[in-house]
Amino acid sequence: MNNLLTTILLLFSSVALLYGQTKSDHKEVLLLMGSRFEFTANADTEAQAKTAVGAGIEEVKRIESLISSWDSLSQTSEVNRNAGIRAIKVDLELFELISRAIKISELTDGAFDISFAGIDWLYTFDKSEQSLPSKEQRLKSIEKIDYRQIELNRNDTTVFLKTKDSKIGFGGIGKGYAANRSMQIMKEMTGIKGGLVNASGDLIAWGDNGKSDQWKIQISNPEDINQTFGWLELKDMSIVTSGDYERYFTHDDIRYAHIINPRTGLPTTGIKSVSIISPDAEIGDALATSVFVLGREKGLDLIDGLKNIEALIIDDQNEIHYSKNLKLNEE
Ligand code: ADP
Ligand code: MG
Repeated sequence: MNNLLTTILLLFSSVALLYGQTKSDHKEVLLLMGSRFEFTANADTEAQAKTAVGAGIEEVKRIESLISSWDSLSQTSEVNRNAGIRAIKVDLELFELISRAIKISELTDGAFDISFAGIDWLYTFDKSEQSLPSKEQRLKSIEKIDYRQIELNRNDTTVFLKTKDSKIGFGGIGKGYAANRSMQIMKEMTGIKGGLVNASGDLIAWGDNGKSDQWKIQISNPEDINQTFGWLELKDMSIVTSGDYERYFTHDDIRYAHIINPRTGLPTTGIKSVSIISPDAEIGDALATSVFVLGREKGLDLIDGLKNIEALIIDDQNEIHYSKNLKLNEE
């Protein structure tokens, strides 16, 4: 391993960071948005790094209270409560996030859809053995899923879910958005040279890590984390990983991931993890979720058609598949 480089170790579906801590670094790890967040800043002084990390954390908390569908006081909950009833005025920030999520739905032909939340009550992803809902139940439930029923009015920034009992949720895009924003806030603070925000494997790194502006990412074998497939060196980049390793259930020995195919109402199968490498954590987050739904072939076709975006997929046979321009360096 090259000691001059900060190394990010991609462990199956989680990303761990071996950060070469220097005197002017500051790092904090805490639970936000129901996930483990890690913030690291490299600055001229440790005090500056600490202040920046604090500001990054506050930003994630602020976003959480805006987009959470669990918090009954959030604007998102207000929109959901009023599905089929009336349009709700929201902050421009939430309005824009919903608009961007809808663009990803259009790009992925509906594979990504924040209104998937209309049927999330059908499943409990607690790693147990479960029966599948009946076809009738599924078909009835997917009537609630359709990004085209989310009516946006830009003039007064209102959102109206036209279908009664439908719901939106940001589980597939929110962590990436929070990582982007938190980086932006940290970046602008005095003395900051570089850093990293890692939202449970959705990470963005920028600038100088104390040793170099190159960040080393190591891709590990899911079966044996001591064995690596290879590594990449990147500058100002995000790598986002969606995996079925924490939230899933099994049925007849098949593992169902916590990502739902809006066409069938069934959770996805066949893929264990998807990592997206791109400059933007929000787009990476949404695309990782999308590739799960699209499956390996269609997923890689989509990624191959996008500039500056690469993907790495591990399927349920532990085979690894790369997008066209992704070239790993060998150990
Ligand atoms: P991870 O939590 O592993 O990072 P993802 O970023 O892929 O995984 O997000 C999965 C979450 O996305 C689910 O828990 C759910 O909240 C939401 N989701 C599930 N299916 C869809 C879908 N088809 N489109 C958009 N979001 C989805
Ligand atoms: Mg995602």
